[in-house]
Amino acid sequence: MGVALNIAIIGGGLIGLSSADSLIHRGAKVTIFERGQDVGHGAGRYNSGMIHPSQSAPWFNDDMDINDIKTLIGWANNSRDLLMKRRQMLGCEDLHRMPGTLQLFESPYVGQKKKTFYTELGITCFEYSDAWSFGHYGLEFLEDQSGNAHHYCLKLAEDLRARGCQIRTHALAEIIQQDNQLFVKSAGQSLTFDRIIVAAGSASRGLLKPLNYELPVRPMQGHALIFARPDMPLPELPIMHWDSRSAMTVFDDHVRLSGTVGEDDPKALWSIWDNIAPDIVKALGIPLVEWSADRPYSEIGRPIIGATSIPHVWVNAGHGHMGWSLCTWSGEMLARMMIGEGLL
Ligand SMILES: Cc1cc2nc3c(=O)[nH]c(=O)nc-3n(C[C@H](O)[C@H](O)[C@H](O)COP(=O)(O)OP(=O)(O)OC[C@H]3O[C@@H](n4cnc5c(N)ncnc54)[C@H](O)[C@@H]3O)c2cc1C
Repeated sequence: MGVALNIAIIGGGLIGLSSADSLIHRGAKVTIFERGQDVGHGAGRYNSGMIHPSQSAPWFNDDMDINDIKTLIGWANNSRDLLMKRRQMLGCEDLHRMPGTLQLFESPYVGQKKKTFYTELGITCFEYSDAWSFGHYGLEFLEDQSGNAHHYCLKLAEDLRARGCQIRTHALAEIIQQDNQLFVKSAGQSLTFDRIIVAAGSASRGLLKPLNYELPVRPMQGHALIFARPDMPLPELPIMHWDSRSAMTVFDDHVRLSGTVGEDDPKALWSIWDNIAPDIVKALGIPLVEWSADRPYSEIGRPIIGATSIPHVWVNAGHGHMGWSLCTWSGEMLARMMIGEGLL
């Protein structure tokens, strides 16, 4: 490679950091602009922690072609495998977690239909009716994984800095056009780069709008309640509740109820999980943290990764409920397209 590409990434979440990881690996010089106090404070901060290729089908694009969903599953499988390697390399502390996830359904009929759908997609799943199904129809996905996304972001950022990446925090950025040239404007400075990558999660659309580029990504709010871990038997695998699109995930030092769609208040999680697992919810007590965030939902049902029609401006956004599961492979795909190794 000749002179290293000088690249700006707007957004220091799972996707911006993973893009930087793959680009630096290929010799690029990368500066990340993150408006928050630190990296990883966006939609991944208190997500459900599931690295779940099993859930690759979009939630609201029912007409998506089955082959396109299979492509997404392929990406997610690759991403999971690469993520497990990178977590190991970075020394993430929760690698001991048991593989797998569970999914519960209010209606056995819906659960059985979903099982047929998963099987059609080539996803391995088994009916599950043990203590942690709480009397519901359940499915178990042994090929999924889980882990703390925020810890990963912090470890990855430390590693990126050591590899020469500049990470600017408290650095709200915008893209401005002057005399036919594009600049990243942040903290009163206007800087030029060879490429600008928009990886700003649900804010990505707004960043591109002034350039007359309409990115089909919109916010889809989710919530979390974080509790101290009570001293009682707890499920080792994350448990998804299909009907509410929420999950209970037990981490080493805390329990997280998280997810939902169409709810305005994190407390909705309380009543959802009180109905499913009342004994656990009673023992959880008062939440330590109540949290809400916008998942970047792509209107076309899959993340948008690649060059835009604006010269030198690229995008990596729209991962919806799958950003932790897809982060490493999304970074790889973007880097390969940009550095010219072609599509995977
Ligand atoms: C409740 C909940 C549960 C979830 N559970 C899972 C799960 O179990 N498994 C899974 O795979 N995924 C899950 N997700 C989805 C996953 O967390 C997201 O898809 C992922 O975090 C998206 O990453 P991102 O980097 O695109 O966006 P974000 O994580 O939101 O990061 C974008 C970053 O850009 C910064 N930014 C925005 N605008 C600017 C600007 N102008 N200048 C500078 N910086 C800017 C923001 O501050 C932010 O840090 C969940 C999400 C939620 C909300």
